[in-house]
Amino acid sequence: MSLWQKLKEWHKKRYKKRIEKMEKQGKCPECRGTGYQISAMEAMYSALYDCSGCNGSGLFTDWENLKKASKENK
Ligand SMILES: [Zn+2]
Repeated sequence: MSLWQKLKEWHKKRYKKRIEKMEKQGKCPECRGTGYQISAMEAMYSALYDCSGCNGSGLFTDWENLKKASKENK
């Protein structure tokens, strides 16, 4: 296994762990339950956006449903 593959595996595991943790807490993994996102660029203007993962609800169930819906559309 190459180093790059190992790194990718590591990231995948970490991501999965985070999802599981957020699921237990019932929070959207993308915004950690806050319902909004802030990007590095936009942080300069203190602009907050509704989280695209959960539509701003911050709930894990909404995030999961939206993820499923986007997969079905593709
Ligand atoms: Zn969210």
